[in-house]
Amino acid sequence: MTTDSNEKEPTPIDNGVSARRETVSNRSVQIVHENCEQLKQRSQKFISDGYTHFGYQTVPVQEKSSLVRNVFDSVATRYDVMNDLMSGTLHRLWKRQALAKADIRAHQHILDVAGGTGDLTQRIAKKWGDKVHIVLTDINASMLSVGRDKLINQGLVSSIEYVLADAQQLPFVDNSFDRVTIGFGLRNVTSQMKALQSMFRVLKPGGKLVILEFSKPILPGLKPLYDAYSFHVLPKLGEWVADDADSYRYLAESIRMHPCQETLKEMMQEVGFAQVDYSNLTGGIVALHWGYKI
Ligand code: SAM
Repeated sequence: MTTDSNEKEPTPIDNGVSARRETVSNRSVQIVHENCEQLKQRSQKFISDGYTHFGYQTVPVQEKSSLVRNVFDSVATRYDVMNDLMSGTLHRLWKRQALAKADIRAHQHILDVAGGTGDLTQRIAKKWGDKVHIVLTDINASMLSVGRDKLINQGLVSSIEYVLADAQQLPFVDNSFDRVTIGFGLRNVTSQMKALQSMFRVLKPGGKLVILEFSKPILPGLKPLYDAYSFHVLPKLGEWVADDADSYRYLAESIRMHPCQETLKEMMQEVGFAQVDYSNLTGGIVALHWGYKI
């Protein structure tokens, strides 16, 4: 993922996409400027050619999940502290807003997909106790194990189950959950359409999916500041706190490769979700998407 001058260059972004190369200390990073339509077309072409993106690298589809696994294996123990640091604790507000939108009620079955260290699950469990049943899933055993320890240490034990599972192939029967949440997970999944289809399948009719994910800044003037922060400050923070600049460079890159607000909305509609909509948080740095299975 790195582009040190003495390292092999990653496969370049292709097809006339404009990119700016900047040097940061002895590293160079490529900041990609694609409009939503270019990004969408390239993702579709990638999947049909058997390739996908891992940050700004082009990789065979079958390799992406192990590359993503390495990232989260590497950051698992410092994940929570880095979240607070990187976002100046804003992620807590975003998660609160996501759960308000989820509109959870007593006696519901909740599935937290790509739940990692369990931040969403923790908030649901604190509010609802054993009045709801929560299944926390993630593809990564390290993240799930840090999450389980954290929740158990907080006394949040009843009504939470932990399942190691790929969002693209959720191991649950059809129509089994009232709410499905996925926080900052979708952009890491190899086929987001498959994950959306899988989440749709396990939702009960009338059930609601809430997606919290980084998105495209919409406030004028925000983008250059955000790019500077993402590509210059984030990797440094990752290096100092988690001894891992690469994973935080991947974070910045993966956000740029994630579908825009409108594209994700269309994808949800294509899968069959109804009353699909979104709202931008913090000027579109993050977006909250939701839709119902009718
Ligand atoms: N939801 C948590 C939060 O909001 O703090 C964790 C988000 S973390 C940025 C992304 C998580 O997605 C990681 O724990 C990673 O293991 C998980 N993930 C990546 N690919 C996945 C997949 N295909 N299926 C399920 N989880 C996946």
